[in-house]
Amino acid sequence: MKFEEKHIENQPHFKGLKVNEGIAQPAPVNEDSVRRFLKKRRKTYTPDEYVAGILQGNITLLSQAVTLVESSKTEHQQIAQEIIKKCLPHSGNSVRVGITGVPGVGKSTFIEALGSLIAREGGKLAVLAIDPSSERSKGSILGDKTRMEELSGAPNAYIRPSPSAGSLGGVARKTRETVVLCEAAGFNTIFIETVGVGQSETAVHSMTDFFLLLMLAGAGDELQGIKRGIMEMADVVAINKADGNNREKAELARIQYQNALHLFPAKESGWEPTALTCSAYEKSGIREIWDTINRYREQIQQNGFFETNRNAQARYWMFESIEEQLRNSFYQNPAIKHKLAEMEEKVLKAEISSFTAASQLLNLYFKR
Ligand code: GDP
Repeated sequence: MKFEEKHIENQPHFKGLKVNEGIAQPAPVNEDSVRRFLKKRRKTYTPDEYVAGILQGNITLLSQAVTLVESSKTEHQQIAQEIIKKCLPHSGNSVRVGITGVPGVGKSTFIEALGSLIAREGGKLAVLAIDPSSERSKGSILGDKTRMEELSGAPNAYIRPSPSAGSLGGVARKTRETVVLCEAAGFNTIFIETVGVGQSETAVHSMTDFFLLLMLAGAGDELQGIKRGIMEMADVVAINKADGNNREKAELARIQYQNALHLFPAKESGWEPTALTCSAYEKSGIREIWDTINRYREQIQQNGFFETNRNAQARYWMFESIEEQLRNSFYQNPAIKHKLAEMEEKVLKAEISSFTAASQLLNLYFKR
């Protein structure tokens, strides 16, 4: 039967309508060129080749290795872990700076300004991110870095968007492992950017030496969504956009924040947090912040906090990884997946207690 006869709307009682067979759409891409592209791209290296490339500062191999770190495929993870293991002895020699602040505070502009200064002076800078929103939006704060024009063009700067998939714990682990690879590749300054709205600052704080909080003048703390705990983590609070009409307000805010910082308990690092003003846009006050970071680094290297803190962070991430892997293994277990919804319903109907449901599921998981 021809298409025209087959189609229901071509039957007699649909008078006045005639449906013709459509025309097959050509493929939107040239399949031959895709195949050629994939063939060219599919060059893979051994873990040793990756490591050798990374140690030579080869950015292409570094990027590919980071992609392996970010991949959730088991075979990629195996290679990634081997690369990380071999890079570890060559890592650690950097200052790791966490940068946070609400969207719009000027993080990208600030990173562009400070990063360009560092790159111009011969430093090697890697900019990474932990973006908790990327899971939802599948985008990334660092996805659109066209704004960092100068920095992305600098030969000694490497900008990597936030890994997008997975839990905060998963994203944080990937970023932390990327730090190891970047340091092995010779980057001696690492920026890790995050949005100052939730738990991601805690993750960033626990993988950095120095924590910079960017703020705006004139917007209350509540408005900026900054919690007390985040202020408490800051080594420097920088009031950005201290330019034009805003200069005076920024200076007032600086004094207020400086006073507020005094009220927090003394830091284990022995460092007294300070509040500064800057304009990422006019590039003023940027050098002072960089000088402060360097002064901080000297101080904590002398008093031993640098090492103590990094050790504490390594321990922290070991336990975090254990918890994350246990959690994943549990929720991905086929028997658990099968049973979970049923148990959830029983709990909601008050047929069994939450505790009993959890125990039964755990017994099932551990085959007890
Ligand atoms: P992010 O969301 O924290 O990364 O913020 P952006 O760097 O994207 O900046 C948000 C907006 O604020 C942009 O329009 C910037 O041009 C502007 N901006 C950033 N820094 C400054 C500054 O120091 N002064 C002024 N006046 N505007 C700024």
